[in-house]
Amino acid sequence: MRVGFVHPSEQEFARFLDYYRIRWVYEPNSFPIGWDDGRVSEMFTPDFYLPEYDMYVELTTMKQSLVTPKNRKVRLLKELYPGVNVRLLYQKDYQQLLVQAGYGVLEVLDVHHLRKQDIQQILISPTELETRVRALGRKISRDYRGEAVILVGMLKGITFFLADLARQITIPVAIDYLALARYAGAQPHDRVTIVRDIDIPIDGRHVLLVEDIVNTGLTLEFVMNRLRERNPASLEVVALLDRPTRRLAARPLKYTGFQVPNDYVVGYGLDFRELYRNLPFICVLKQGVYQGLGSRPASPDPAAPK
Ligand code: 5GP
Repeated sequence: MRVGFVHPSEQEFARFLDYYRIRWVYEPNSFPIGWDDGRVSEMFTPDFYLPEYDMYVELTTMKQSLVTPKNRKVRLLKELYPGVNVRLLYQKDYQQLLVQAGYGVLEVLDVHHLRKQDIQQILISPTELETRVRALGRKISRDYRGEAVILVGMLKGITFFLADLARQITIPVAIDYLALARYAGAQPHDRVTIVRDIDIPIDGRHVLLVEDIVNTGLTLEFVMNRLRERNPASLEVVALLDRPTRRLAARPLKYTGFQVPNDYVVGYGLDFRELYRNLPFICVLKQGVYQGLGSRPASPDPAAPK
């Protein structure tokens, strides 16, 4: 299928959705949002429709001057058609989606050391992490009393969280790891895949998937579907961080540590271009550190075959 995207960023987004095996349709519907003397005077055509999520997505990746009118259109659409589920993705959000999916990692690494002035805010201190992880461990031990559980960690962000959590759990646990291919350098036909699978058979056993942060929920959705096919006795999620404002796939999380705002966070296992995982706290880096990310040159042919 050839799609005539209006803007390269739309093609990038389509590739991102393809990678996560999410079906999409480009600009399938136009909604009347303004009338003049009983005649339609204004239409709004959201960029994408995701049938599996029954959701429209509008990207605002172009000029800031376009953001305000788009906001207005989205607001009108929501008011006039309350049954229509529409999300506006801002340029910042969109770039971060690409960054966190690993996009841009292959670029030259120019950040080598943490400088104090790179940190904008410490969101969660080491003590807060310790206290919350201990409470999660207790709760899990209570909920699964009399059972054994397999902790499946998603590499690599869970490194520290999993190690700390497992030591706070007092029922028998087995530990295994999963790794997904990252989006970096993905070709148009690439799809998210498990590159390192778990070794332990999970058929008939209780599985607790350990995630560092749940953002759109797409990573989780993909992994949960793959694990569920193997018939575990139960399958639940413990996520250290939850960013519900960005959710596209709304799967309930049984255990969460902290909710975080939209800013990209690092530390305690979470990286920025493979750095900062070893910080003992969770923090937000200054915007300048991220500059240039998500701005990889677009494909020269915006209508390249999918
Ligand atoms: P999702 O598929 O839910 O959008 O993204 C989940 C994955 O993206 C996480 O496992 C994590 O690797 C990455 N991610 C999402 N948000 C952040 C963030 O703020 N900081 C870091 N370092 N990684 C993130």
